[in-house]
Amino acid sequence: MNRPDGRQIDQLRPISFVPNVAPHATGSVLVSFGDTRVICSATVEDDVPRWMRAQRVEGGWLTAEYSMLPYSTLDRKPRDISRGKIDGRSSEIQRLIGRALRAAIDLKKIGQRTVWIDCDVLQADGGTRTASITGGCVAAAIAFNKLMAEGKLKTFPMKQLVAAVSAGVYEGVPVLDLNYLEDKAASVDFNVVMTEASEFVEVQGSGEEAVFTSEQMTAMLELSKKGIADLISLQKAAILTADRAAPADLASLTAAFGKR
Ligand code: UDP
Repeated sequence: MNRPDGRQIDQLRPISFVPNVAPHATGSVLVSFGDTRVICSATVEDDVPRWMRAQRVEGGWLTAEYSMLPYSTLDRKPRDISRGKIDGRSSEIQRLIGRALRAAIDLKKIGQRTVWIDCDVLQADGGTRTASITGGCVAAAIAFNKLMAEGKLKTFPMKQLVAAVSAGVYEGVPVLDLNYLEDKAASVDFNVVMTEASEFVEVQGSGEEAVFTSEQMTAMLELSKKGIADLISLQKAAILTADRAAPADLASLTAAFGKR
């Protein structure tokens, strides 16, 4: 079995993080998993949803929105607003992103605030939801660092990093981090979210019309565990460098894009 881009079965696509691409957000990053690129931002508002206030729930909230830009796909994808309804796939994905990131954060420590995680897909080539979770976590960490530096938070509210990756059975073989060609051809597709302590947050797996064995499932989860450990090291480096990075300048964007 040869992968379309020549990768090993346990090899991620080239991963990059360009921090601070959206200076008005509290934290932001452009994440790339190969040709999949997502702008992830975290914007912190000094307010909580009405239900939290009504029920006197302590702390704050984190919620996510996901959207594919019209030119992110091969054929132009109309914006939801022009179609007059929210895409079912997008709402499923944004709920997944929110659940994944809430697992990483101690909401009591953020005070009466709401963290908005916005994930906008610039280029889609498979794995946009896993890139969104991985980048969303980096954007949130950058935002919390900023609030700490401004003295608005006393303790860092992120308990641990979370990252996500896909795995699937391609031409009969379990492989890590499917690109679009592989995703389209794969008989089984898993999306795995894990913490830096290698604990699962969520696993979405389906055979669509195919079926899979427990051995294949174990192989996909093991591949994901390795991929997520790699992603978490890269996330840490991105969060550390974000403090020093100026708001996205053309040079850093060119450097990131120039690699491909
Ligand atoms: N895709 C697309 N248009 C859509 C939905 C999906 O072109 O409306 C492509 C896109 O490349 C995406 C891939 O199909 O990354 C796989 O989609 P899926 O729903 O499995 O989500 P993802 O893998 O992006 O999380």
